[in-house]
Amino acid sequence: MTAKKDIKDLALNELAAELESLGEPAFRAKQIFAWLYRRGKATFGEFSDISRGLRDKLEERYFIGRLEAVERLRSGDGVQKFLFRLGDGNRVETVLIPSGTRRTVCLSTQAGCRYRCAFCASGLGGFQRNLTPSEITGQVLFVKDVLGEEPTNLVFMGMGEPLDNFDNVAGAVRIMNAAEGMGIAARRFTISTCGIVPGIEQLAKLDLQVNLSLSLHAVTDRQRDRLMPVNRKYPLEEIVRACEAYLESGGRMMTLEYTLIRDVNDTRNDAEGLAAIARRLRAKVNLIAYSPVPGLEFAPPEDAAVKEFVRWLEERRVQVTERRSKGADIAAACGQLAGHKKGETRETRETGGKRETGKAEKRGRPGRKAESVGTRTAKEPRGSGRRDDPPPAERT
Ligand code: SF4
Repeated sequence: MTAKKDIKDLALNELAAELESLGEPAFRAKQIFAWLYRRGKATFGEFSDISRGLRDKLEERYFIGRLEAVERLRSGDGVQKFLFRLGDGNRVETVLIPSGTRRTVCLSTQAGCRYRCAFCASGLGGFQRNLTPSEITGQVLFVKDVLGEEPTNLVFMGMGEPLDNFDNVAGAVRIMNAAEGMGIAARRFTISTCGIVPGIEQLAKLDLQVNLSLSLHAVTDRQRDRLMPVNRKYPLEEIVRACEAYLESGGRMMTLEYTLIRDVNDTRNDAEGLAAIARRLRAKVNLIAYSPVPGLEFAPPEDAAVKEFVRWLEERRVQVTERRSKGADIAAACGQLAGHKKGETRETRETGGKRETGKAEKRGRPGRKAESVGTRTAKEPRGSGRRDDPPPAERT
């Protein structure tokens, strides 16, 4: 007997084709999508407008994938981090960032990461595997359960490089974007990349209309080769050209992520190089002060250095948003998501939220769009992850 497959790995058109092959009308796919993604049902038996015969056929061939949260950490002002155990024991993390009326979910796309950026915890344990569409949408469905309402923004900036798992990420976006799925508008998605040129080119060819964010962090090949080894394969000029082509193809506005690290990438020359790239791509810059990762040698910049860097960018007419990376008390800040190794067991727990919380908070500055991270009390999860319009980006 063939092993059952996860029905949530199927796009709407794939499900329709499956149903036709079972002698069922294709329109049933929309009804099934509604049960899976709008009503969040966990068993085929609950699909009350589907015939018993079809439910039995589905039951024979499929299971309904769900993620199990093994740990939930909550900061005092509402940011929450969830650790999910996948079916094979791998673990990934998702972060939920409430901010006013926004509920942004920072999604993981891979267990581990093969790119090993020098400042990031996600690459420390190496690459395990790609997440499936079901495991990606499952993070959002879990948060829907926690919040009791739709997340407003989805950012692919958690563990892993989204464009290294292109098909599954694109599939998950289509499911969540579909009116019959979660109905989340394309402009609410931001896909972040460390600079995977073929992936950017592929994205340009799809009509997804999502936001693209480039995790830059260094502005010369020499410096970027050291911080982000992927740059040895896809050098800066190639990446910027791919981004230009993405914009020319009708892609939405771009953002550049720049993690400021003390004595590494915080000079006036760095700011000038960043400004030149930002102007070329007509991109906004999200400036993030580095958050320490245990075992890594980097240090956060002084507040004064951050302010100076912002001033240098603004003098060069670059739109910059300073993000104060928070959530250190739950290791939910930029670059800190590491998951836990296979086989580990931890009890679900909550922190007291005594320290500064939140994933990243914009600091209001004259002449700059300001946003504050609001406080929200999330409901407890039943069973067991940044922003808006256009959503900023924080991490690949
Ligand atoms: S910054 Fe992104 S691409 Fe680099 S190691 Fe971390 S998760 Fe991977």
